[in-house]
Amino acid sequence: MPLYANAPAHIRAITPYQPGKPISELAREMGLEEATIVKLASNENPLGPSPRALAAVREAVRDLARYPDGGGFELKQALSARLCVQPGQIVLGNGSNDVLEMVARAFLTPGNSAVYAQYAFAVYPLAVQAVGAAGIEVPAQDWGHDLEGMLAAIRPDTRLVFIANPNNPTGTLVDPTTLRSFVQRVPDRVGIVLDEAYFEYLPAYLRADSLAWIHSHPNLIVTRTFSKAYGLAGLRVGYAVAHASVADLLNRVRQPFNVNGLGLVAARAALADEDHLARSLQVNREGLEQLGTGLAALGVKYIPSHANFLTCELEDAASVNRALLGRGIIVRPIAGYGLPRHLRVSVGLAAENRRFLDALEDILRFDSAGS
Ligand SMILES: *Cc1c(COP(=O)(O)O)cnc(C)c1O
Repeated sequence: MPLYANAPAHIRAITPYQPGKPISELAREMGLEEATIVKLASNENPLGPSPRALAAVREAVRDLARYPDGGGFELKQALSARLCVQPGQIVLGNGSNDVLEMVARAFLTPGNSAVYAQYAFAVYPLAVQAVGAAGIEVPAQDWGHDLEGMLAAIRPDTRLVFIANPNNPTGTLVDPTTLRSFVQRVPDRVGIVLDEAYFEYLPAYLRADSLAWIHSHPNLIVTRTFSKAYGLAGLRVGYAVAHASVADLLNRVRQPFNVNGLGLVAARAALADEDHLARSLQVNREGLEQLGTGLAALGVKYIPSHANFLTCELEDAASVNRALLGRGIIVRPIAGYGLPRHLRVSVGLAAENRRFLDALEDILRFDSAGS
């Protein structure tokens, strides 16, 4: 029997994650100059990283022959001070994606199950499947999480429930009061993975005080990232905050040097640059407004978003996507999420959003691909 056929069935059944198309790839395919391409496909910060993060990286490049600090001491200290949690409650990841996988490895086996929502972040089913556990997908409600349905879906063999708040790719949000009541009702033996990758984009009144809930709910694991609002997607730094006993378990399945040295220093510098974060949030607010107004003017429906992207509905999303690519604009088709009539557009700079809207107008006017 060939080697591949000996891999467990749950591994052979995995459908790989579909990332946004890289700028270099579209440039090659279409014979376009990279500089003319607009990428609004991966929810990246259009302002780029903080200049302070870049300076820290330049400095740290000298130490590339050394292994990074596997314990991430300094970054944990900075996060601990900022978030008012103990350093021992923090687990650093090579992106928060890494942390999500650690959680799956630490708590799931082929005999048990995890609950997540339809249209929730694609990494949850992947992480669950990779360890051979059963995934229980609960139908969405208004594109978001049906928390009552998720509670009802918890079985005796369920070990984890995943919540993305805000959710990607739909941008929906569970308000803090509803979320709190959900956390209180999930049985203690079930881990709640609260993925707050877009937390920083929320106005204060919509931010759950989730880290404080860990004291009374030690089954709560909150994950966040430096990839989105902090503009460091390329360096791969994310983290979990959990009860110290849970953080200790996660650290046992963590690779010893999972976060690279440049990522560690860049994240610490980015965390200290509150001006850059504030500018990033403002660019996002204005961009969401611009995209929403522009789409409405074209008669295109979209799902109201609490994150840094907008998901819009088009009759023939696949053709519109091809036409956008032909014009050098990369957005994200989300047919893989079961949303074949939607495209997810990340918020860019005003000029980038404009190019997307103008191109879309053109496409909808000249062929009948749109809604
Ligand atoms: C982008 C994203 C992440 C993680 O990204 P990393 O770059 O791995 O930190 C996690 N969850 C959601 C919902 C996301 O959209």
